[in-house]
Amino acid sequence: MAARHLIIGGGTAGLNAIRTIREEDGGASEITLVSAERPYSRMVLPYYLGATIAESHVYTATPASLAAWKVKATLGRRAKALDTAARKLTLDDGSAVEYDDCLIATGSRAVRPPIPGAEGPGVHSFWTLEEARAVIAGVQPGTKVVMVGAGFISFTILNAILARGASLTIVEVAPRILPRMVDPACARIVAGWLERHGVTLRVGATMTKIEEWKGKRKLSFKKGEPVFADVVIMATGIRTNLEWLEGSGIEVSAEPGGGILVDDHLRSSVKSVYAAGDVARGPNLLTGTLEVHAIEPTAQEHGRVVGANMAGRDLAYRGSLIMNIVEVCHLDVASFGQWDDPKADVFTVTHADRSQYRKLLFRGGKLNGAMICGPAEEIWGTNDVGMLKGLVYSGADLSRWKAHLKKNPFDVKPAYLATHTAGKLLPQTVLGRASQSPQLPHSVMVQ
Ligand SMILES: Cc1cc2nc3c(=O)[nH]c(=O)nc-3n(C[C@H](O)[C@H](O)[C@H](O)COP(=O)(O)OP(=O)(O)OC[C@H]3O[C@@H](n4cnc5c(N)ncnc54)[C@H](O)[C@@H]3O)c2cc1C
Repeated sequence: MAARHLIIGGGTAGLNAIRTIREEDGGASEITLVSAERPYSRMVLPYYLGATIAESHVYTATPASLAAWKVKATLGRRAKALDTAARKLTLDDGSAVEYDDCLIATGSRAVRPPIPGAEGPGVHSFWTLEEARAVIAGVQPGTKVVMVGAGFISFTILNAILARGASLTIVEVAPRILPRMVDPACARIVAGWLERHGVTLRVGATMTKIEEWKGKRKLSFKKGEPVFADVVIMATGIRTNLEWLEGSGIEVSAEPGGGILVDDHLRSSVKSVYAAGDVARGPNLLTGTLEVHAIEPTAQEHGRVVGANMAGRDLAYRGSLIMNIVEVCHLDVASFGQWDDPKADVFTVTHADRSQYRKLLFRGGKLNGAMICGPAEEIWGTNDVGMLKGLVYSGADLSRWKAHLKKNPFDVKPAYLATHTAGKLLPQTVLGRASQSPQLPHSVMVQ
């Protein structure tokens, strides 16, 4: 077992790895954490923006909790170069850390399109805590916010912007909203719902520049009228933080989305170096192909599996399930698995008058993907998200239920119960054992 573990990146994947190493070894090894930011959860930033939680609640570790885990933390410093032959990391202040094995968990960052004014004043991204603080300072009751990009991240902050009393316009280059999360039929329902709740949508809009105009931002487009805003939020995609690895010999995919290529133990092409979370191109649970799944559950699972392997276990990872779940203006929208599989048997039902949509995708007797849309007040819809996800995740044999679900895609419960899916899922943790508390004295837990 390696004695000196180095974790680069203190986000979800990095902290889950640290927690798991300590669960496995009880403090026997050395752990060094190098992270550009103090550990916090990006996923809860929308709640901070909406003033549902205080800033102190976004943090996932404190100096005291890291000390209790016996972690030597270097925070606010960036990894600059990795010498995998010498097993040495150089930081941006010139200092170096030697390791026996290391985890790269440096996540991703927001990117903006290369158009004039995209980096100008009043134009923000919403990916880091610092960016969240800037948006909070700029968005007050009556502020006119224009969000560029109608993807998942933009939808996670939509409620919070409205809750701050701002008005909201969303512009999207694709011909519909949520182009990588839902199909056109579902997008139509969500768009109609948002417009009825006062959100202005403009799709198929290619932005060409942003400029100052009488104290406001003027957004111009290839076609049509300009749009004016007090604050612009760019939710136009992300890129993995991997440039610093150049010359390290670690293989990074040339496919769109990039990512460090990993094996089923989440080891990179250099065996003493693991990768996890947004930076890792790991296996897809359903297809086995290597993909970047830049979502929280994947970062958690990757971190847990890498932590166990760094601590000496021999743990293969089954793969991650892509899933996106958002609630916008009290409408639940979710998709998971292979929801756009062109070869699947597809069953859909639309109740446009009730803003409901359901799509189930089968490969043979297995549910391989699903899409759900419906008002959040309908509790059965929320329950179905969990049950359908469970059926996809467990790979339950639904041959006997396929015809029933084709006729009644909203009647999932009997199939879920009859296949004993809950019972099968319970013992299935990524570590192959029940989760344990990280052995932290209560007084040092993050409050
Ligand atoms: C607003 C928002 C809402 C989201 N909502 C959801 C959601 O509802 N559901 C969901 O599944 N996912 C959501 N996500 C995505 C989710 O937060 C990410 O997938 C997850 O944080 C990835 O974890 P990670 O550990 O790979 O990277 P991160 O959490 O990004 O952590 C990376 C860490 O590495 C550090 N770092 C970067 N470069 C360096 C360097 N060179 N040297 C040292 N340290 C470095 C960073 O400072 C950071 O601490 C959301 C993200 C955002 C921004």
